[in-house]
Amino acid sequence: MARIKRLAVFTSGGDAPGMNAAIRAVVRTGLSYDLEVFGILRGYKGMINNDFIPLYSKSVGHIIQQGGTILRTARCAEFRTEEGRKKAYENLKKNKIDAVIVIGGDGSFSGAGIFSAEYDIPFVGIPGTIDNDMYGTDFTIGFDTALNTVTEAIDRIKDTATSHDRIFFVEVMGRDAGFIAVRAGIATGAEGVLIPEIDNQEKLLTHFIKKNPHKKSHIFIVAEGNKGGGAVVLTEAMKKEFPELSIRATVLGHTQRGGSPTAFDRFLASRLGVAAVDALMDNQRSVMVGYKNHEVIHMPFNKTIKGARTVSADLIRVSDILTT
Ligand code: ADP
Repeated sequence: MARIKRLAVFTSGGDAPGMNAAIRAVVRTGLSYDLEVFGILRGYKGMINNDFIPLYSKSVGHIIQQGGTILRTARCAEFRTEEGRKKAYENLKKNKIDAVIVIGGDGSFSGAGIFSAEYDIPFVGIPGTIDNDMYGTDFTIGFDTALNTVTEAIDRIKDTATSHDRIFFVEVMGRDAGFIAVRAGIATGAEGVLIPEIDNQEKLLTHFIKKNPHKKSHIFIVAEGNKGGGAVVLTEAMKKEFPELSIRATVLGHTQRGGSPTAFDRFLASRLGVAAVDALMDNQRSVMVGYKNHEVIHMPFNKTIKGARTVSADLIRVSDILTT
């Protein structure tokens, strides 16, 4: 196998706090192996549009504490086509790139898996998404920061909810899984958590409110993918059922995606950034580097893409005991 001399790194799909720390770690580890390192701007879009920039140690100075991604990110429909991937390959060749590190979610890894089966350029992935819903790693970069943002926001909402005897439905991110919702529920002492993994929880809410007539202030956390509806839908339904109560909806939305990464996310991103370059130099291909039981692991892209990851039954039990 030809020796790797030029390495490219990019961020793709949804952004997550800590992606910059991962870019920094990849660049500095690449340089420690005497590689030339390039950044590709805006994910697969930049690969197709030939947006490559050289990165040096100084290029990634003072970014470890910044949210977002200095390389920007994007979604790119063209990369889903053979013609799009051919253009991307030609640009990688033009820039003499021998290996690529992708920082993103399982969509980005699907694209990388398909591409490296078609063309002989090795890819290694670093899991970056606030949703934490990736199989093979206990934590994804950005999850801990988002969880802390949500916890702080709910603490604030709780103050006003208590003062006004109000019920709040707080919607958090999580289309397919309730990782943020369940942990935030435990961390804030919420009265209820509604997640995509469990059906028909809405009935329990009605029961809970009726059962506690003296208690007028509740926080219910709703993952956006809850099958019975998000915070706005549930608030409207509950207002009809309990017209005498004061009920409000708050959608935390994109505040969850920004902000300075926590120490844990900076550590995780740095650790996985080093591990990703090590993996490539060790001739590993089409794998995600992840973190399981406090150890770095390597998992083939096709395994992490196919494996569904939802909140464990054990954590749901803890949440159930401590909330409703
Ligand atoms: P995430 O990586 O956060 O899961 P997406 O699912 O939006 O984000 O995927 C990011 C990008 O990865 C897409 O815009 C597309 O360019 C590429 N991609 C995703 N799935 C595929 C696929 N099956 N084939 C080729 N490219 C893909």
